[in-house]
This record gives sequence, structure tokens and C-alpha cells, in this order.
Amino acid sequence: MSELKLGIIGGGQLGSMLSTAAKKLNIKSVVYSDDVNAPAQKFCDEFIFSEYDNKEKILELVSKVDVITYEFENIPFETLNEINKLKPVVPKPSVNRLIQHRLAEKDFINKLNIRTTRYVSIEKKSDIETLEDFLPGILKTTTMGYDGKGQYPIKKIEDLETLNIDFSKGYILEKLVKLKKEISVIITRFGNNKYEIYEPIENTHKDQILKYSKIPSEISKKIFDQSKDWAITIAEELKYIGTMCVEYFIDRNENLYVNEIAPRVHNSGHLTINAYNISQFENHVRAVCNLEKISLKKISNAKMINLIGDEIKPYRENLKLNDNEFLFDYLKTEIKEKRKMGHITTLI
Ligand code: ADP
Ligand code: MG
Repeated sequence: MSELKLGIIGGGQLGSMLSTAAKKLNIKSVVYSDDVNAPAQKFCDEFIFSEYDNKEKILELVSKVDVITYEFENIPFETLNEINKLKPVVPKPSVNRLIQHRLAEKDFINKLNIRTTRYVSIEKKSDIETLEDFLPGILKTTTMGYDGKGQYPIKKIEDLETLNIDFSKGYILEKLVKLKKEISVIITRFGNNKYEIYEPIENTHKDQILKYSKIPSEISKKIFDQSKDWAITIAEELKYIGTMCVEYFIDRNENLYVNEIAPRVHNSGHLTINAYNISQFENHVRAVCNLEKISLKKISNAKMINLIGDEIKPYRENLKLNDNEFLFDYLKTEIKEKRKMGHITTLI
């Protein structure tokens, strides 16, 4: 039996599902979160609550585990870098630093000759005034954004007057893509040309938050192949270890664009728990703990719906499910509007 202990920074639902996957592999998990109510504490073996820059508490985590990973990307680089001097942080901190910055991330992808949306760095309000070309567009903070937070749609330059944007932060302005579809590709890389990749997942967002995912995606063979090839190129170039996700846009002319990379397990991959022999979470734990790579086999087609805010309520009150439906309640104590509370995967 394995004696390994895995440290997980971040205590949300992704941390919970990583802990559950670790347990299945006989690996103990220690979750570290700055949220005293972090849901993952109900799934892990040990929980440490503290700020991400508390040196003493971080050292306590380090002393308890063999390897450390993370479930969200907005962790200070310094924190990850310091930990990495003592115990391996996987994926490596430099990957996280690159991807948590939208500008650096997009520059990196373009250098690989992979298409992204058109974008430009914005440092002050007057920068936008000469950029009609990029409108309609979306102004996004370069760091710390998720679920559409820190994003402002800009149709015309005058919109800036009413939006009251804090320009002390860095932004990028992205040209709006006329979306036909959004897909994502999840890949787990174990080493040089050693990876497992899931088929492209089709995603539907509501108010910039993921609402539905399904496999198979209704896409052409060309997009199917290109999206997988690009994910492999990106993972190899980063020398990534673990599970990562590439989010894509497909426009009305069938062009594929990388939207963003998530250096972690991803919401669109929740259906892999029920639809594949090995989930994205188990694969992540296998890769970061240097365990055996097992060939992926798809068990079933599937669709997933996120339960946001109050939508969890009827299920908590015992709404009956069919045999092919699987409910995941993240056990978050407080129900909040726009908060991901759980999901249901249906095998189809
Ligand atoms: P987050 O980091 O919050 O996930 P994203 O950049 O992925 O931010 O944006 C969230 C969603 O907003 C996307 O999945 C897409 O639906 C929409 N969106 C973002 N940027 C664009 C764009 N340039 N063109 C069209 N839609 C966009
Ligand atoms: Mg996104």
C-alpha cells in the first residue's frame, strides 16, 4: 500500500474531487485553504486553514506531505516557488506563473503558431481610445479572473465612461469572437510524449459561467483533431505534469481559437468521473504522484449540468434521480447566487 501524502492548495470542489480520487489510490490528502468553510475539508484527510502567504502554516503543510499540487491558478508565484525548494510542486510554479497572466499566456500560445483571439495590452484608459479595431471586445483583468469576474464587454469607446474601471490594474482588450461553439480538451501529461487525452467536450456558458458540458461534441473531424493536437503541443511545450485543460472557441467560419489554458483539473471535465475508466482527477493524482499511466477508455457518452445557486435546493430535498444520473453536492454551507453548488452527470 502506498504511503504517499499529497498536499492540495485550494479547498473548493476541485480540491474535494482531487481528495476523493487520491483516497481511491490509497494516497492521503492534506488540503490547504484560506477559506475556513472550504468544502474540500469534508473530503480530505487533513485540513489546514490559513492565508496563502502565511509562512509558518505553509511550512506545516510542506512537512506533512511528499508532493504538492493546486486546484486553482491564482496562488502567488512566490508561495509556490518557496514550497518548491522544499518539496516538489507539480505542475511546476513557472507554468502557473505564465498561465495566471492572460497576456503572458496568450503571447506564449501565439509563439507556438496556435491561434488565439486578437488581443492587446491595456495599461491606461487612453490606450483603448485608439483601438476601434478591437471593438466590440471584452476588457479582461490580466490576473485573478474566473467565471467571468473582472471582465467588461466594450461595444464602443463611449462605454468606458459608464463602466468605472479601475485602471491601476493591468488589462487586455480582446476582440469578441462570433461564437458558434465552445469546446475544451483535457489532457494529463506524465512525461515526454507520455500523456492521456480525453475527447473534446462541448460547453455552453450562461452569464460567462459554465452551465452544460457534453461528449461527444458536435464538431468536424478537422476541429476534433486540431483541438487535440494543439492541447498536446501546449502540454509538451510547457513540459507539463498533471491534468490541464485548453478552452477553445469555434467561430462561425469554423476557425478554432484557444481561449485560455487552465493549469489544473477543470469544470468541463467533471463528466470524466462517470464517463471514463479514469477521471481527470485520478489522472492528475497519478501524474503528480508518479504512478502508473493507464490507457483511457470511454465508458459512455455523457452530459453534465452545473447546479448554480438555488438550483441545488430541490436535490438536497431529495429529488429523485434516474439510474443513469449522478448527483455531486459540493456541500458548500452557504448558497450564493452564481456560486457553483453541485453538478449532475447523466450517462447517455
Ligand atoms: P474566465 O477566466 O472567467 O473563465 P474566459 O476568458 O474563459 O474567462 O471567459 C469566460 C467566457 O466568456 C468564455 O467561455 C466565453 O463564453 C466568453 N468570452 C470570453 N472572451 C470572449 C471573446 N473574446 N469572444 C467571445 N466570447 C468570449
Ligand atoms: Mg474560461
